[in-house]
Amino acid sequence: MSLDGRYDADNIFAKIIRGEIPSVKLFEDDKVLAFMDVFPQSRGHALVISKTSQARNILEMEPEVLADVVAATQKLAKAVNAALKPDGLVVTQFNGAPAGQTVFHLHFHVIPRYEGEALGRHGEGGMADVEDLRALAAKIAAAL
Ligand code: AMP
Repeated sequence: MSLDGRYDADNIFAKIIRGEIPSVKLFEDDKVLAFMDVFPQSRGHALVISKTSQARNILEMEPEVLADVVAATQKLAKAVNAALKPDGLVVTQFNGAPAGQTVFHLHFHVIPRYEGEALGRHGEGGMADVEDLRALAAKIAAAL
């Protein structure tokens, strides 16, 4: 999918927001939702999305909504750092399929990095064990 196109209301993150498919949530309010990535590139990989915007990418995102999502991303990064004590943290955001975007509902990734541990390939890792994700999420949520 290119940068131009229509928002698909049945994309996987829209379904998560509507509660139609499960997710391991970290925090949410009426504006944003943070949850664990089920195909993590590292231990503690998590995502932040807007619950109100239908922006597929950063070009379409309303600036005031983007401000809320970025603030939530910082909040998540701080909690991941406090809970998991990584050696580094990657914050990424992809726009358009050629850039690596696979879900067309704007989102930020928070990906902890650990010394000596290679980063899993974006979009090509295996599915995490849900109990492992829940245990990580409990630690991160406790650090919010
Ligand atoms: P991107 O490739 O930047 O669009 O990121 C999409 C991310 O969503 C990838 O890191 C996927 O692992 C992740 N993902 C896909 N489906 C789900 C899901 N059902 N729950 C949580 N994360 C997902």
